[in-house]
Parts: sequence; C-alpha cells; structure tokens
Amino acid sequence: MQVRGFAVGPIQENSYLAWAEGSDRAVLVDPGEEAPRLLAEIEREGLQLDAILLTHTHFDHVGAVAPVAKATGAPVYVPELERHVLADIMSFVPYAGFGPFESWEAEETVAGGEHLTLGGLEIEVIGFPGHTPGSVAYVERQHKVAFTGDSMLFRVLLSNREKLAQWTESVRNFAAKTKDIDTIVNGHQWEPFHQSDIAEELALSDAIMQRKITGYSKVILNSPRIIYTLGSKRIGLSDDK
Ligand SMILES: [Zn+2]
Repeated sequence: MQVRGFAVGPIQENSYLAWAEGSDRAVLVDPGEEAPRLLAEIEREGLQLDAILLTHTHFDHVGAVAPVAKATGAPVYVPELERHVLADIMSFVPYAGFGPFESWEAEETVAGGEHLTLGGLEIEVIGFPGHTPGSVAYVERQHKVAFTGDSMLFRVLLSNREKLAQWTESVRNFAAKTKDIDTIVNGHQWEPFHQSDIAEELALSDAIMQRKITGYSKVILNSPRIIYTLGSKRIGLSDDK
C-alpha cells in the first residue's frame, strides 16, 4: 500500500492519497485546499481516483472537494449526518485563505459499518462521532492503516463535555475494533498515532470527565477554549460547563 500525504491550505490540513501497490486506482482522503496541487500529484503518480473520502466536513478538510471531483469524476463519500452541512460551509469563511467553497454532489454516504473496495484497497468505515456529529474513520486492515481526520490527533477539539463523552465512547469503540492497526494517520500532524496513543487519549478524557485535572484558557482558531493536557495529548473544549 502506498500512502502520500500533503499538508494543504492556511492551517496545513493533511490530505492523503492512498492506493494498493501496483494499482493505478487510488482514493483521496480529505482534500482540504490546493486542488491544482492535489490533481498534479495524482497525475504525476499515474493514478485515477476511485473516490474522495471525507472523514468529516470541517471547512479546512473540504475546500478542494468540488474541483477535484469535477476534474476526476470521482464520487464523494461523505458522512451521512453531514451531507447537508455544505450550505453552512459555503457561507462560513472565517479565516483568510479558505475557499471559495464550491458545491459538490455527495454520491455516497457513510455512517460506519460499510466495507468499501476502492483504490485496490479494502476499506472499512468506523463511525467516530464526537469531533463532529458524523465523523468517521477509514480503516485498511491488510496494511494496518487508519485514516481518522481530526478524531485522533495530538490536539482534539470538541464542543463541550457532552461531545467529550461521545468522542470518548467513539475512541473506545475504535480501539476495540482496531487492536491490530498500528498506523493511525491524522488530519494535522505527520507522526502517526500508535496503540499507545489511544490509551493516552483515553486516560486524558477520563481525567477530564472525572475533573481530576484542570485546564488552561487558550484561543485557537479565533475561539476561546479550555485546554487539558496529559503527556503529549491535548483536548480542547469550547464550552467547559
Ligand atoms: Zn475538524
């Protein structure tokens, strides 16, 4: 399996091109911005896109979806609960350098439990609600790789304690289903997570939920958050009541 990552856009979201060794078909995960660059890379590798896979629909992950889909004809797989959020995204241009966001047709929706054959790869979808309502992870078991977007990250941003509880449940579910997965690639960092990172994320969320640690205030992406830290992990809550 080949995986190539590209940090794109003003806040360096990671887009991943993945394909089976020897295959000329590929998938593109979370094309956040810089469509011309992503299209050039696809062409340079001599690949054709089988699908565009979205882990979630935050603005920094979807800016290149429409132009790449249009140029390649690849279907867009979008979390079922987020297929209608595009209108919101298109009116939401909070940071310089993003967009303009063009509309696209979501041809497929995923919610978790699906098994897809794309790019010569067998890809399982695992639901991961928390960071966003419909977040999903894409898991390739043969090569033990998972694409988790912003759901497994050195710094997970969540709306409130209710979403923290939901995300924690999702992490436990993901952990139970991915004990053999040792490369967990993410939306904003290059160093992949491993199994030990999952345990550390859960330890941090438990400590926050049981109010065993205190956070500090920090503004991230123009919004004030309360940040909690344990080891190399951080969890930021927008509302910490
Ligand atoms: Zn996100």
